[in-house]
Amino acid sequence: MNCKICKAQAVVSLRSHNAAFCADCFRDFFSRQVQRGIRGHGAGELFSPQEKVLVALSGGKDSLALMLELKLLGYSVCGLFIDLAIPNSSREARAWVEKFCQKHGLELRVIDLAEEGLAIPLVKKRLKRPVCSVCGKIKRHYFNRAALDGGFAALATGHNLDDETARLLSNTLRWDKAYLLVQGPLLAAKKGFVRKVKPLWRLTEFETANYAFITGIEHHCAPCPYSQGASFSILKGLLQELERAMPGRKLDFYQAFLERGRKAFAPLDACDDEQLRPCAECGSPTSADQLCGVCRIRLALAKK
Ligand code: SF4
Ligand SMILES: [Zn+2]
Ligand SMILES: [Zn+2]
Repeated sequence: MNCKICKAQAVVSLRSHNAAFCADCFRDFFSRQVQRGIRGHGAGELFSPQEKVLVALSGGKDSLALMLELKLLGYSVCGLFIDLAIPNSSREARAWVEKFCQKHGLELRVIDLAEEGLAIPLVKKRLKRPVCSVCGKIKRHYFNRAALDGGFAALATGHNLDDETARLLSNTLRWDKAYLLVQGPLLAAKKGFVRKVKPLWRLTEFETANYAFITGIEHHCAPCPYSQGASFSILKGLLQELERAMPGRKLDFYQAFLERGRKAFAPLDACDDEQLRPCAECGSPTSADQLCGVCRIRLALAKK
């Protein structure tokens, strides 16, 4: 098969775009998709070239691909890695991130949860709550704090089209109006919360994997040992089946939601901005009376 653009031997075939590309033309394709993603889709531009963006790096291919492409496009980016202190996982992921940032001359900030007294294995052992929900809460808290304290305009994550459509399907199956309302590549800043953006929303996992391979990105592959991930992988599998039978359906599903679906939930936007107040301990916004969720976790750990 030949490249659709330059007719050289193709190395990537994309049925959803009815195209095949050689390595160079695939990089151009990937870059165009990221730029289209940043221009947004009915939601406005995710960020401008003048704004500083903090990129959450997990060590996986998606966040590293995002970081590299944003840098190549000339955006002002800085990486953020949160070391969760999970054995056989965090140290390896951190090493990949540090090596990557060094290789490409990228600024990197690291938050060490063990130093914060919130190492995830300790949280898992001491608290009788599903570890992923607590871990997610802690990570969101520190991402937000680091972005606000560092004066960044936005926090970018490497969520791709597969992540986004699986989440959309999950939210739709439950008709979870509150989540459907805020789902999308751009979540505007509000009172104590930085703007959150997902510039890879037009690209599939397959496409970011090819980008990582072609650009020589070395990354962390092993899943987190605490990951249960079953429900999302089932949904991803279903969407993959759909995509196989109807190429392009995943992107259509997501784009149509952004254009037409999401506004159906808009009246709920009256949301509780008003009810948010600063945490008495750390100042982060919370709807609780005194302490935010993370400060309450810290307190619970201290009591045990
Ligand atoms: S899978 Fe691991 S990293 Fe992800 S939320 Fe769960 S504990 Fe945290
Ligand atoms: Zn080509
Ligand atoms: Zn707090």
